Amino acid sequence: MKRTPLRPRSKKRTSEMVQRRKLVTELLERFPWCARCYWNRSVDLHELKNRSQGGDFLDPEQIVTLCRECHQWVTENPAKAHEAGWTFWSFEPVVKPRAD
Ligand SMILES: [Zn+2]
Repeated sequence: MKRTPLRPRSKKRTSEMVQRRKLVTELLERFPWCARCYWNRSVDLHELKNRSQGGDFLDPEQIVTLCRECHQWVTENPAKAHEAGWTFWSFEPVVKPRAD
């Protein structure tokens, strides 16, 4: 594996990571149950739109909380997950799956 020397993080990046950590705690508290199966406890945050697609990983409207199994399913089945509304491409408006 190619190694790159450690670089001090920029202030912007550090502040983003702090905000992100706060958001993770907040959302897992607010949504203790998995948004997909409603059965297991949420353990992961899932970005409906990937950062590479222009998603904002600090926008709660673009984030759902999932259990490990559902998160894994979303990751391993990109086509089905997209069809079911768990992922969005850059040109698609993010519509958060609602429980109602
Ligand atoms: Zn689940």
